Amino acid sequence: MTRRLRSPAARFAAFALPAVVLPAAILAVLGYHSLRQWERSAETLFRAQARDLASMTADKVDTVLRRAEDTIVARLQNVLADPHPTPDALRAFVASTPLIMGLSVFDRRGHLRYPSAGQAVDGGLFPTLSREFPPEAWDSPGVRHLLVQDQIILAAIPKGVGGGPLLAALSLDPEALRRDLLEKTLGPLEGSTIPAVLDAQGHPVYSRAPLERAMPIISVPLGGTLPSWRLALYQPPGAFPRDAVRWQVVLFSAAFGLLLLVIAAGLGATYRLVRRETEMAELKADFVANVSHDLKTPLALIRMFGETLEMGRVADEAARQEYYRVIIRESERLSRLLDNVLDFSRLERGRRTYDVAPAAVAPIVHETLEAFAYILAQQAFRVEVAVAPDLPEVPLDADAVGQALANLVDNAIKYSGERRVLRVEAALRDGHLAVAVADEGMGIPAGEQERIFEKFYRIGRSETQGRRGSGVGLALVRHIMEAHGGRVTVESQPSRGSRFTLWFPLRVDGTEGKAGTSGAAEVA
Ligand code: ADP
Repeated sequence: MTRRLRSPAARFAAFALPAVVLPAAILAVLGYHSLRQWERSAETLFRAQARDLASMTADKVDTVLRRAEDTIVARLQNVLADPHPTPDALRAFVASTPLIMGLSVFDRRGHLRYPSAGQAVDGGLFPTLSREFPPEAWDSPGVRHLLVQDQIILAAIPKGVGGGPLLAALSLDPEALRRDLLEKTLGPLEGSTIPAVLDAQGHPVYSRAPLERAMPIISVPLGGTLPSWRLALYQPPGAFPRDAVRWQVVLFSAAFGLLLLVIAAGLGATYRLVRRETEMAELKADFVANVSHDLKTPLALIRMFGETLEMGRVADEAARQEYYRVIIRESERLSRLLDNVLDFSRLERGRRTYDVAPAAVAPIVHETLEAFAYILAQQAFRVEVAVAPDLPEVPLDADAVGQALANLVDNAIKYSGERRVLRVEAALRDGHLAVAVADEGMGIPAGEQERIFEKFYRIGRSETQGRRGSGVGLALVRHIMEAHGGRVTVESQPSRGSRFTLWFPLRVDGTEGKAGTSGAAEVA
């Protein structure tokens, strides 16, 4: 009885699931989560850094602007220190101060003292200004920043003014601000981010580089000097840290995917190996069972007929002769089986040697058929032999070739059904000497035609077809033919029959197969 081993798929699943698939799945989940975590913390860190950078930059702009304003207010103070500042002096002050676009000077009562026309900030500005500078504030000089109708106004009460305190409103020139201040302050800053200054409506007044495809990161108020304006940081296209992290994630995922692929390939290979090993174990078990069975049957027959003869119970001479023939036939079958098994084991251990010498195939064909003559006649086989005349001798090991041929003939007999025809042909074909053994038996399905030459392989395994056999016959035939530098091929159609052909090369190693050359080939 053949013990059924656990299916290879079940064995493999039992090994692969806990050992490989589960850890790989856990690793994949953990990897994914830590990547997400990493992405999130990188983003948070980046935003925090960007906020710090933006605040520092905004402070810098504020400081520079304050310094510029201090200078402007000090200069204005000088001009206004004159008890009767001439409009010309004030005009000259405005003209020589690029950052200032307009100037209006009011007295405590709200009278516009300068200018009488042109260059005024706005006559109706005073109420707004006086809200910023209540009466008590007029005595302590100071500076305010206002946004009036989209204009940045610097309002100041310069000290030391002759003829009572005055309120000066200076409107900043955005173009000069951009060019002389923002450009000079932000332009030389280093770093991959793009600093930009946005006005109260969020429109960029200045940016260090074009912002078309840049991504806004963060914006902070610009400090008191430019009320409602903001300093924003942008990331140039493709350089957003999220992109870098994404790229890392993609890279990691690709590496992990590759790892999974390698694991899958390893599992696939292991599965194939396990399946093959299991199959081989099953085939070996079948082989032992088949060979034992094949040994027992002829032995039982020999013993039974031998004992019957020994007891002298067979009086009829014809019957006695028949008994002798059975004994001879069965012992020949035993020898063939043992030869096959022994040769196969030699072949497995790499000990099979061949004595190759040029010889004719015709005698081998005839001798082989002679050995099967009785069984062929008994089973009413129509035997057709066609050996072409004048075939050249070819280098071969006569015993081995006889064995190969016997295996093919034995199979043709075993696997023939109703149509009992055996055809043996030898002829020159395609530059080879071809010896074919054909039957009209059950045939071999196309999918099995390669596999039948594997060791232990039998179509449908041991029980099929109800025919005895060890499954090593064709493996031996193939080995023998390869040792001769030739090959064995099969053409077959299920239920139509099979045709096995042994192809012998006419020369070996460039030597014409002539009598006299002899050698031993050892094939692993
Ligand atoms: P076995 O001892 O089983 O005959 P072989 O190696 O000689 O082992 O053959 C392998 C298998 O190939 C056989 O079990 C049989 O299924 C198939 N086979 C071989 N020769 C023939 C044939 N002439 N017709 C049909 N099937 C064949």
